[in-house]
Amino acid sequence: MAIQDPIVEGLAKGWNHIDASQVSAPLTLEADVVIVGSGAGGGVAAEIMAEAGLSVIIVEGGPLKSSESFNMEERRAYPNLYQQAASMKTKDKAIGIFQGRAVGGSTTVNWTTSIRTPDHALAFWAKEKSVKGLSTETLAPWFAKMEQRLNISKWEFEPNRNNMALKQGCEALGWEYTVIKRNVAGCWNTGYCGMGCPVNAKQSMLVTTIPAALERGATLVSRAKVAKIEYHQDKIFGLKAQALSQTLTPTGVELLFKAKHYILSAGAIHTPALMMRSKLPDPYGIIGKRTFLHPTVLSGALFNDAINGHSGAPQSIYSDQFVWQNGAAGDLGYKLEVPPVHPILIASKTLGYGQSHADLMAQFNQLQVTIALVRDGYHPDSQGGQVELTDHGFTLDYPLNNAFWEAARRAFASMAELQFAAGAEKVLPISEGMSMLSSWPQAKKAIAEMTLAPLKTIVASAHVMGGCPMGEDPKMSMVNSEGRSHYFDNLSVMDGSLFPTSLGANPQLSIYGITARNATLLAQELKLKS
Ligand SMILES: Cc1cc2nc3c(=O)[nH]c(=O)nc-3n(C[C@H](O)[C@H](O)[C@H](O)COP(=O)(O)OP(=O)(O)OC[C@H]3O[C@@H](n4cnc5c(N)ncnc54)[C@H](O)[C@@H]3O)c2cc1C
Repeated sequence: MAIQDPIVEGLAKGWNHIDASQVSAPLTLEADVVIVGSGAGGGVAAEIMAEAGLSVIIVEGGPLKSSESFNMEERRAYPNLYQQAASMKTKDKAIGIFQGRAVGGSTTVNWTTSIRTPDHALAFWAKEKSVKGLSTETLAPWFAKMEQRLNISKWEFEPNRNNMALKQGCEALGWEYTVIKRNVAGCWNTGYCGMGCPVNAKQSMLVTTIPAALERGATLVSRAKVAKIEYHQDKIFGLKAQALSQTLTPTGVELLFKAKHYILSAGAIHTPALMMRSKLPDPYGIIGKRTFLHPTVLSGALFNDAINGHSGAPQSIYSDQFVWQNGAAGDLGYKLEVPPVHPILIASKTLGYGQSHADLMAQFNQLQVTIALVRDGYHPDSQGGQVELTDHGFTLDYPLNNAFWEAARRAFASMAELQFAAGAEKVLPISEGMSMLSSWPQAKKAIAEMTLAPLKTIVASAHVMGGCPMGEDPKMSMVNSEGRSHYFDNLSVMDGSLFPTSLGANPQLSIYGITARNATLLAQELKLKS
């Protein structure tokens, strides 16, 4: 079957796309709405604004790629499609962070797990974070709309062996597990979602909302990094951007974007960093603070049969057995999932050097990996991280404190128990100094005694949230519960930076649903004004 490439076809039809690397003189562009970033928030906002008949410009720092260039090779995908070639780290280098950097943002490379915002998170935000109007009931139609738009439905096929182990472990122990809903249409089950879907089955922003907006006359400017927000009193009057070369370094050409309304969708970390660089008013010192990851620890397990965790839908089963066990504000909980197991991804997230690492990698196809995503931001001791500007860009300071390490130790124990229950021969908690453990009783003792520490214990995250929280109380939020700035009439934020805490669930559907609501309300208002 021929693979249709909507991007190649759309460009041939005459979509408005400017690759800023090809622009040689300063350029000013104007529209009703300018959106910074084309990921989960930017894509949905662009489609809704364009559908409402507003003129839209989408400014994206990364390149426009498409299935034509997705060749399932890690060595090409990470430098081409990820922030910092997928090797971004927190300030002390203790946490590895994955974020996308291409048209479609992180949705171009994400693993398709689609979960509505948990009730616990919404209730906590309403009670503790002054968020208004975002209840399970009020959001339900917006989630339903986006589930339909992005073909989000329960994965109907057999989980791959990596996910199957999670399911079997839960069944053996009587733990809760759920079959994951995925945003795919006609999925080939290749397992290479993280490298850009080679067959356009993943309903990322790259093949859904961005093409729809372009079809309605929106303009996409790729390889253009917004560097500064210009403002006067309570109005934004322009965005200054740098054109980037093919290798994403500034070419020296300046671009200026002007609009009636500006939407920041550069993602958590980059939306706050842009606000900080532009010195937007922040009387309560909120921007960039309380940036949350789901700091994630990993447990490897060797099975007798082939796991082949690189093959098949990367995530199709999760367990919420331990996420909310002690209530939202209690001890930090953790969600159990599995990641795709590809050689570079796993080699950079496992342990040892030289021979010991080679020995582990030699058993690559027998390796099952379970991950525990720690729910951060609810407990008084879980303040998350802080974006800081540096001479060359930004850094995220994210100290891992005792509350996290206690959760991590419990998570290592749960993962080992689960993997042995699923039939693992050996389990390896991914933390320096640990060796292969041969039974659950041995693992239980070793995990209770193991040393957990930054740089010793591998911690990673593909979920970045917060840093520009929503709420009605300006003392704890930058934007209101509809994503509108407390300080500027014509500024909104629509991306993962809105969340006052982490979610305890994979973020994309929360961003889609909440953006759909906020963008629809904003479009109605802008239409009335025009
Ligand atoms: C490998 C991976 C796997 C994941 N798997 C899942 C999953 O299975 N399920 C799930 O729910 N979530 C998953 N996520 C997370 C999810 O994709 C993100 O939470 C979501 O896409 C974030 O949306 P956003 O709009 O906040 O930012 P993004 O989607 O990251 O988009 C932000 C965009 O803004 C651009 N940008 C940044 N700064 C500027 C600037 N100054 N000027 C112009 N453009 C700029 C960036 O290049 C980027 O394209 C995964 C993420 C990754 C990286």
